[in-house]
Amino acid sequence: MMTEEVRRAIEEISGVIPESRIRRDEPMDAHTSFRTGGPAAAFVVAENEDELSAALSALAGSGAEHLLMGNGSNLLVADEGYPGVIIKLGGDFESIEQDEEDPCLVRVGAAKLMSSTSAFLTGRGLAGFEFASGIPGSIGGAVFMNAGAYGGEMKDVVESVRVMDADGTGLRELGNEEMDFSYRHSAAEENGMIILSAALRLRSDDREAIAARVAELSAKRNAKQPVNFPSAGSTFKRPAGGYAAALIEEAGLKGYRAGGAEVSEKHSGFVINRGGATTEDVLAVMRHVREKVFENSGIMLEPEVRLINCSL
Ligand SMILES: Cc1cc2nc3c(=O)[nH]c(=O)nc-3n(C[C@H](O)[C@H](O)[C@H](O)COP(=O)(O)OP(=O)(O)OC[C@H]3O[C@@H](n4cnc5c(N)ncnc54)[C@H](O)[C@@H]3O)c2cc1C
Repeated sequence: MMTEEVRRAIEEISGVIPESRIRRDEPMDAHTSFRTGGPAAAFVVAENEDELSAALSALAGSGAEHLLMGNGSNLLVADEGYPGVIIKLGGDFESIEQDEEDPCLVRVGAAKLMSSTSAFLTGRGLAGFEFASGIPGSIGGAVFMNAGAYGGEMKDVVESVRVMDADGTGLRELGNEEMDFSYRHSAAEENGMIILSAALRLRSDDREAIAARVAELSAKRNAKQPVNFPSAGSTFKRPAGGYAAALIEEAGLKGYRAGGAEVSEKHSGFVINRGGATTEDVLAVMRHVREKVFENSGIMLEPEVRLINCSL
């Protein structure tokens, strides 16, 4: 069911974005790495800043609920779906460009995947992004939550970020400091601004040495993580003074199941979809884990995965 606000916003958006990129009742299990979630009332792909600005302005004007998604690798969408408009970036937002005068500076569009960014940088002999090569998100999603792995975080490589305000106005470039990065956090989480691109500061190195480091981290990831099952990576944030996976294991929850969702046997920090899981199954596992870990350790785990139209 489409609300009146969504209907009005979509009518306006269709004056700017071709119908072929506006879908109704779009199943979100096709767009999330968990492979769960019901339909979004509308799903729009914006391919340049003008389209995005017009779409956001229409949404702000109509008051329709909306969400800008990246690659869907940190989202858990309700089985009932999402009653608003989901915007995804494509086209121009997938660009990547090395600065001609300053070759260690690379401008990457928000929709570009971390894996292809890493491949580009390796090919140009630019080091510093190896830590991020296996994170299955987009640059926008990674900047939004200061994604990190193997001792590196986006904040270590981001020099500046081009952003737009949530209402489609206010284009500007923010420096690293202004992004207020901290553990799995950036200023974008607070003010709803949209990340359009990021300028990454790398250092030059031997291509083969970079490729070898990427391969080593990829082998580590494959050995430790349940990469063959749908998931959203680490389900819970690292709590102060501990590791979520260790706390979950200590509470005896490895392999705990509800329906098709399970605390991974391979890495207890991951809830996986063993096949046919619903979002409700994943939530049931998450609720049980939080309760039992709290009973066992006194620590209340907070989700790292973003809950869309659902709650614990
Ligand atoms: C197998 C697996 C392994 C993972 N390993 C890691 C890991 O090692 N380290 C790690 O940090 N994460 C990891 N993750 C989680 C996930 O990949 C990261 O959180 C990633 O940064 C999410 O990016 P995304 O593009 O998929 O964003 P989405 O999941 O689509 O969105 C996440 C949030 O970002 C916001 N967002 C996305 N794009 C933009 C934008 N352009 N402007 C403003 N807001 C935006 C969305 O609104 C949403 O709130 C893993 C996930 C999986 C499935």
